[in-house]
Amino acid sequence: MCAMIADSLDLLLELQEYDRKLSIIREKLRELPRLRKRAQEALEKRKELLQRAREGVKKGALHVRRLEAEIDDVRKKVGKLREQQMQIRSNEEYRALEKEIAQMEERIRVLEDDELNRMEALEQIEREAAEAEKEVKDGEGVLEADLRMLKDRETDLKQQEESIRRHREDIAGQVPARLRERYERILKHVGDYAVVPIENGNCGGCHMRLPMQVIYDAKKGLKVQTCSYCGRILYWKPD
Ligand SMILES: [Zn+2]
Repeated sequence: MCAMIADSLDLLLELQEYDRKLSIIREKLRELPRLRKRAQEALEKRKELLQRAREGVKKGALHVRRLEAEIDDVRKKVGKLREQQMQIRSNEEYRALEKEIAQMEERIRVLEDDELNRMEALEQIEREAAEAEKEVKDGEGVLEADLRMLKDRETDLKQQEESIRRHREDIAGQVPARLRERYERILKHVGDYAVVPIENGNCGGCHMRLPMQVIYDAKKGLKVQTCSYCGRILYWKPD
């Protein structure tokens, strides 16, 4: 095999390895904003639950207060009726008032039962609100830790990117300019690998069957061979 071609292909493969690593690192860097957003949204969700729980507590407490006011009101009315009862001489009127009082006392019992249920429900909602508050507080800690971790990851990835980029530039400088341009054009076009091995007579990129002549020439390494289907640069890999 022609030494110069073989060397160029080796360099291209090395370059490709660095490009591959760079592409993975850059993909990870691009993911970071989404991960940050997701972490923030998790806390927002907890805050929404707390907000809802607090509104529930407010509503529940208001309802209890209204019931208390109503019970108070009915009790006062009962008191007034009892005073009226003292002034009454006729039995009929007395019984009519007695009936009215009994109805009101029944109403008070119903209201008190309702109040008791409402108070129990309110206690439950208050417990939920306290729990939600704790969740928010915990969530703030989690978010802070997540953001710090993501920041560290970003720093680390950027350092790796910089180091690999420098190595890549070093190798790229050793590849003949026209071949490098060709490589970069193909890479841009195919997106994954610009240089692929010949595998069982097929292109290692698009897997189409290659003409015998192309395989033969690649094996001899007289010039750089490309796949006529996908345009990738081919290299011969002994089994
Ligand atoms: Zn191909």
